[in-house]
Amino acid sequence: MLQTTKRPDSPVSIIGAGIAGAWQALLFAQAGHAVTLHERGDAEMTDATSHWAGGMLAPYCEAEVSEPIISRLGLRSLDIWRRELPDTPFNGSLVVAHPRERHDFERFARMTAGHRRLDAAGLAELEPSLEGRFRDALFFPTEGHVEPRRVLPKLHERIKAAGGTIKFDSDVTAGDLDGIVIDCRGLSARDEQPELRGVKGEMILIETAEVQLARPVRLIHPRWPLYVIPREDNLFMLGATSIEAEDTGVSVRSALELLGAAYAVHPAFGEARIVEFGSGLRPAFPDNLPRIGIRGENIAVNGLYRHGFLIAPALAELTLAYVERGQIDNEVMQCA
Ligand SMILES: Cc1cc2nc3c(=O)[nH]c(=O)nc-3n(C[C@H](O)[C@H](O)[C@H](O)COP(=O)(O)OP(=O)(O)OC[C@H]3O[C@@H](n4cnc5c(N)ncnc54)[C@H](O)[C@@H]3O)c2cc1C
Repeated sequence: MLQTTKRPDSPVSIIGAGIAGAWQALLFAQAGHAVTLHERGDAEMTDATSHWAGGMLAPYCEAEVSEPIISRLGLRSLDIWRRELPDTPFNGSLVVAHPRERHDFERFARMTAGHRRLDAAGLAELEPSLEGRFRDALFFPTEGHVEPRRVLPKLHERIKAAGGTIKFDSDVTAGDLDGIVIDCRGLSARDEQPELRGVKGEMILIETAEVQLARPVRLIHPRWPLYVIPREDNLFMLGATSIEAEDTGVSVRSALELLGAAYAVHPAFGEARIVEFGSGLRPAFPDNLPRIGIRGENIAVNGLYRHGFLIAPALAELTLAYVERGQIDNEVMQCA
């Protein structure tokens, strides 16, 4: 087994309070470590990619476009979400398609597991607002979703309740800190990990009381998986594009596609009020896979790409197992 220089009794500093850092801080604090979580922004977290995310916990749907490691980490994470935040909605998710995307819909069904097929009546029973809209659907009953802008503060509260300290407006580098340092800076870690890139994701928030949904609905689309996610207070998030660019803002073309997808799911979305346009940069390595990099007491957790909410709990569990027991996960960890 690889020799490490870890000292389980060392203080643990985590840099970055996005979804990766928040889960690291929570599991380490609960395990009895002296945890300090540093975040350079304020508690609103608007600089974090996590602020812009859809928050879908969808290991089965994501298998269509991802490596098996994402499903493994995702399925483990669902258990941890359930254990730590039992009020997380696990209402499943739906995939629908218009007749012209029939072949892609069937391909999606073949590429994924964990679903059952609903006919139009079954879909209407599950989501009355979608009655008469689609002739069938795929239902993934065990998937969940969280609202990032509500769940991040909740996780931060849980960290404090577990004895951890959170310092906002605290812009630090690993060299400033003693003990074990876990770098969860997302795209800002490019000074240490130059192979990271940002993959732009655009989203739109709309509001209407005319449509009620209990779970995310994905619409098969030739270019991107487009989805509508219900939020509290009659809000719906429309997401998300995936563009190899690092500018901010939302293009007219993307806006048309996102709004068109919502309208295709239900025409009443045409009357909804637009609340917000926004975009975030997903931190990704060239292979789009997450990585836990280990260099002595410096650990870097990054490359969560389009799966941060889905896989952050399992990555934190693996990091903790390494620090406490020297356990190495060869698929995710890279040791210098
Ligand atoms: C539109 C969109 C939709 C998405 N939908 C989903 C989804 O449905 N499900 C899913 O699982 N994932 C989704 N994602 C992906 C997910 O958002 C990312 O994988 C995740 O947010 C990455 O989290 P992170 O903690 O690594 O980075 P971030 O959230 O960016 O957090 C990094 C934090 O580090 C802080 N920081 C940086 N430098 C310093 C420093 N020197 N000192 C202190 N703090 C520092 C930053 O301020 C930031 O808060 C989506 C992404 C986008 C853009």
